[in-house]
Amino acid sequence: MPCPPATPLFPLPDALAALGELALDLRWSWSHATDVLWERIDPALWRQTHNPWLILQNASVERLRELAADGNYLATLAELAAAHRDVLARPAWFQTACPPSALQRVAYFSMEFGLSESLPIYSGGLGILAGDFLKTASDLGVPVVGIGLLWQQGYFRQSLDEHGNQVEFFPHNEPAQLPVLPVYDANGERLRIELPFPGRTLILRAWQVRVGRVSLYLLDSNDPLNTPADRGVTAELYGGGSEMRLLQELCLGVGGWQLLRRLDIRPEVCHLNEGHAAFVVLARAWSHMRDHGSDFRCALNATRAGNVFTTHTPVAVGFDRFTPELLQRYTEAAMQAFGLDARTLLALGRANPDDASEPFNMAYLAMRGSILVNAVSHLHGHVSRRIFQPLFPRWPQEDVPVGHITNGVHVPSWDSAEADRIWTDACGKARWLGELEHQEEQIRDVSDPTLWALRTTARQRLIAFVREHLQRQLATVNAPAERIAQAAHALDPNALTLGFARRFAAYKRPNMLLADPERLVRILTNSHHPVQLVIAGKAHPRDQAGKAMIRQWNDFIASRPELAGRVVFLADYDMLVAEQMVQGVDLWINTPRRPWEACGTSGMKILVNGGLNLSELDGWWAKAYAPELGWALGDGREHDNDPAWDAAEAAELYRMLEEDVIPLFYHDRDAEGCPRGWVAKMRASMSLLTPRFSSNRMLREYVEHLYLPAAACYAARQDPALGRRLCDWQDALARHWERLHFGEMRIDGDAGAWNFSVPVYLDDLDPDFVAVELYAAPPDAGHPEIHRMQRGDPLGGAVNSYTYRIAIPAGRAAGDYTPRIVPAIEGARVPAEASHILWYR
Ligand SMILES: *Cc1c(COP(=O)(O)O)cnc(C)c1O
Repeated sequence: MPCPPATPLFPLPDALAALGELALDLRWSWSHATDVLWERIDPALWRQTHNPWLILQNASVERLRELAADGNYLATLAELAAAHRDVLARPAWFQTACPPSALQRVAYFSMEFGLSESLPIYSGGLGILAGDFLKTASDLGVPVVGIGLLWQQGYFRQSLDEHGNQVEFFPHNEPAQLPVLPVYDANGERLRIELPFPGRTLILRAWQVRVGRVSLYLLDSNDPLNTPADRGVTAELYGGGSEMRLLQELCLGVGGWQLLRRLDIRPEVCHLNEGHAAFVVLARAWSHMRDHGSDFRCALNATRAGNVFTTHTPVAVGFDRFTPELLQRYTEAAMQAFGLDARTLLALGRANPDDASEPFNMAYLAMRGSILVNAVSHLHGHVSRRIFQPLFPRWPQEDVPVGHITNGVHVPSWDSAEADRIWTDACGKARWLGELEHQEEQIRDVSDPTLWALRTTARQRLIAFVREHLQRQLATVNAPAERIAQAAHALDPNALTLGFARRFAAYKRPNMLLADPERLVRILTNSHHPVQLVIAGKAHPRDQAGKAMIRQWNDFIASRPELAGRVVFLADYDMLVAEQMVQGVDLWINTPRRPWEACGTSGMKILVNGGLNLSELDGWWAKAYAPELGWALGDGREHDNDPAWDAAEAAELYRMLEEDVIPLFYHDRDAEGCPRGWVAKMRASMSLLTPRFSSNRMLREYVEHLYLPAAACYAARQDPALGRRLCDWQDALARHWERLHFGEMRIDGDAGAWNFSVPVYLDDLDPDFVAVELYAAPPDAGHPEIHRMQRGDPLGGAVNSYTYRIAIPAGRAAGDYTPRIVPAIEGARVPAEASHILWYR
């Protein structure tokens, strides 16, 4: 693999060269050992940005010269640089826990990555997850390489005008100011990827980001050789219309795959983080055709084995869809080059391949092109099986091949310095670097006063941050001097602090607490039990309803002088604001409309810091909640957007705050002022939930349940004979399926068993290509009962027809059971790779 030069773009004094190496590794975003180096260079800028790359870019030549002559500084630098190299070279969990296998490399494709505010190329939860994923891969030594786009403007930045309206800004991401380096090819030339677009060639430039042991490659289209319109393809994350989105997704999937080829990175597994990345399925199959001279279907079978897909969308309308004309226009060149007809291509993105009017659905392409698919929480698994059901007509919903791996958060990125110290003392330095089974007991032993002191310190620190942030925010919109002065004293360091930060979208119901403003005011202004609220969040620039909800909160704050300093809306929710909030609040509130929160991760970030959750029973909380761990809203059912139900939940939220949360925080305090009940809940939540909802647990599940099986399957399918056999199987199924049928079933009962036998007529289909199963639906919410029936002798006087039999214990009524014929062949996954099914009735 050609290595980019590991030095910054400007000359550092030789003695300080290692600073460039450290500043360009985003490991500093979660490992704080090197903070002392940056702080020494420019303490004020460090406090403001926490961005080593910016510190280095803005350091004066004189300051650098001084430090280059400072023996102590140089010694510290040498020590930290050596430690850094040592960490990167040391084997990690993957190298020690996973025996050598077919898994050498995973390529992780994502539209956004939220690694650090110094690289603002994310919009929200999906990107934060991708960032946490790469950081964890580095910690655990999982051989992942990330593929994404270098957004020139990223997502918008939010400001609030003097009336509390959201105002959007799109500052330019100057690549030279970002911790990224250009990628060069083996000849030392700037690496460029070319995509054939109608009437022109789109050029993509490549960049590399270091994330500890992991590399992230990014592509951008801002090359002067592109047309002005094409230069803007990677300008704005989730901006533009349908055509722009299509181009962006082609850059990610097709461009990203070509980049891997150019770098000679040959992943066994491609991981599609959401359907945006699904074009990699096509690009990978096309490469296989070229390499092996195979046809498209065989190439797809061979490569599908190495693709895995994570779906994040809880509603079918959330999937990206393109008109057939648009897709055809941009894939024309590839279709010609690979002799592919439009119908075959379009069929991959349609529920019904024969419906010429059906748009092309990226999630369907991802589904059809991946061997393993997962949703992001237990509940989201159910929801996803329901929304992907159209791809598997007549299959029971629980057979729809979507499993789940619940998201987790990269704990070292979200813990406070104080929490980090407590966890290190209790669980050791390597606590997030391997398996987590002892953490629960270890953190349980931390004393009440220690846990309570953690809360108090964290709350104070949040308040200091809020005061500074708020003063700046008000000063920039010319707020009256007395409001700015008030902001310097906002919030009370001893008051119960509630918080939430979320996208202002209708389904998140960010204004639920405003359902009864008088009641909220009473809760907040109780002089014995004061409560305060810290809020942040952006609305998508085109979401008028979301913006109205932001305005509603700001109107509420502005119109109630008695709330001054008790409710704060922080502008420009980003990773820095999120970090402060999740570390400082006592209670995190989350009110999505079930089942619209596929998983949700912000509430997980507070666990390590000893915050508690009060959340709708949706996403991760639907499975995590228990009464000793926090509070739950809702009845665990779906109510759509019924206003009466929203009102009932709001009333329940107030009631819980008044009767449960506030008393627990203020009552039953011991002689030192420590609330025993509250701390008990903290201890339970921290110890039971933090390891379970860490990205460490998540990534190890991805390795075990997706990557290792997919890599093994991919390796097996590189044998062309197996690839061909799968194609023959699929062809034969397509040819004969319509003519398969059953004869009359017989059921005999004897000695406590049911004997089922049924004649099956297989047309000319090889009997080894199918299985006949006896199926009984689950009696309640459990698993269905499925028995494989045995093929008996051929039926006399009929061609290729057999009696299938089975005897089972007569525990349920014989009428509960139904035979069905399904495709089956060694090494293939059904129904993922063949979705035929024939029921007896
Ligand atoms: C964690 C995080 C999110 C995602 O939060 P959800 O609860 O999953 O919606 C979004 N934005 C930022 C800045 C975050 O840190």
